[in-house]
Amino acid sequence: MLVIANGLVHSTRSARGELRDIVVEGDTIVDIVAPGAVTNASAEILDASRRLIIPGLVNGHTHSHGGLSKGVGDLWSLELLLNAAPWIGGGRATEHKHLAALINAVEHVEKGSTACYDLFFEFPAPTIDGMEAVASAYAKVGLRAVIAPMVADLTFYQSVPGLIDALPDSARAHAAGMRMGGADTTLEALRRLARQWSHPPDRLRLGIAPTIPQHCTREFMIGCRDIAREHGLAMQTHVSEPKYLSASSFKVAGMSMTQTMDACGIVGPWFSAAHAVWINETDMALLAAKGAQVAHNAGSNLRLGSGIAAVREYMRHGVTVGIGTDGSASSDNQNMFEAMRYAAFVSRIRGLPPEEWISTTETFGMATEGSARILGMGDFIGKIAKGYKADLVLLDLDTPNYMPLNNATNQLVFTEDATAVDKVLIGGKLVVTGGRAIGIDHAALAAQAAEAVERLAALNAEARRFAERIEPMVSGFCRGLADDDAMHQLRRDIPPAGRCVHCGKAH
Ligand SMILES: [Zn+2]
Repeated sequence: MLVIANGLVHSTRSARGELRDIVVEGDTIVDIVAPGAVTNASAEILDASRRLIIPGLVNGHTHSHGGLSKGVGDLWSLELLLNAAPWIGGGRATEHKHLAALINAVEHVEKGSTACYDLFFEFPAPTIDGMEAVASAYAKVGLRAVIAPMVADLTFYQSVPGLIDALPDSARAHAAGMRMGGADTTLEALRRLARQWSHPPDRLRLGIAPTIPQHCTREFMIGCRDIAREHGLAMQTHVSEPKYLSASSFKVAGMSMTQTMDACGIVGPWFSAAHAVWINETDMALLAAKGAQVAHNAGSNLRLGSGIAAVREYMRHGVTVGIGTDGSASSDNQNMFEAMRYAAFVSRIRGLPPEEWISTTETFGMATEGSARILGMGDFIGKIAKGYKADLVLLDLDTPNYMPLNNATNQLVFTEDATAVDKVLIGGKLVVTGGRAIGIDHAALAAQAAEAVERLAALNAEARRFAERIEPMVSGFCRGLADDDAMHQLRRDIPPAGRCVHCGKAH
């Protein structure tokens, strides 16, 4: 038995939390009692005096392969990030996949997250070695995760209607010649993974992530769905993140991305839509009716200029919303406190009145219980309660973030930046102390990362030159698509008052 004693336990009932002892047996919280109430002399005591205890934050959308990519680009929209993807993530050996995931996992726990939904990409198709490399990184740190191979059977260039033809002669053949691993090969790899996955389902769960609907043929998406349903796996997809993809969906499929996925039988309680920025109320109602969830990534949406998701409207429709950071190639860190802050802030600039903004209680709920539901783990993580796993973060109240402690929930969302993270427990086991992940040699990890990026930069130099050469054309072409008439289709179901779901103004 472990007693986490004398901590101030975060509670929606009290602005400053409640002094309690949390009693843990094995990996589970078995009681929450008044300080000193446990009389078991053999119980191990973890002193939590002057600590605010919160449930571990749950990252609803990230990419472990981004662990080596923070700060690689600046003035990049999503299409420019996708254009750069072959050189950012190219040529990686198994050791690089493990290293990137390990760096991400260390950052997660040191910044107060205890679980994540990882859309992990391998080119040209997922491998058992690659997936095990990621799983072993998470096991080493102790992080809980859904690891979903991010798959596609079309390249970015094939996915944008007309883009290859619009490229200059000198670039067209190269872009047209790029290929993913092939639908059959990829589906077979997913089947093998699903058959062989042997990690404890409450720790490391397998998922499937068709990356973006336009990057997948319908047959391929249906193949992914069949494997997911046969093995009971969660699915997540990037949905309507930037304007150009939302517009091109109407152009190519004659319907929205959400409708396209629904037509493939993908939308259901096992499904979560990452981003879901450029989406109308019909699609929101569809997601709600099917019990699907949304992972809101405000930091990434700001960084890539994608837009701002209409979270209040999702909530009105009854859609469960969680919060994610997205990968470090597009948001540059794995700090869920920052992701919460962004989520709360962006809700206030959409033209809605203050009572419609996302409150700190709602934001904190999204980053814990909401994201836990996205992971399919909502019945055992995401809150401090009897029967839930002891995934806990102890924040040091003697840091400037809590001088003074006025309102714990407001300060968790508005003030906390992860600098107060002292200890983290996952399943009752201490994985962070003094703000540092236990068992990790940070200097060695930094040296390995520096060596890896140097080696990979040399390997990917040619791919980088190609991507940089066509960058202005890719950007211009996708911007043109976003301005296309198809955008009007997207807006056709906006409420009768004619107010845009995104900015609240009449168009
Ligand atoms: Zn993403």
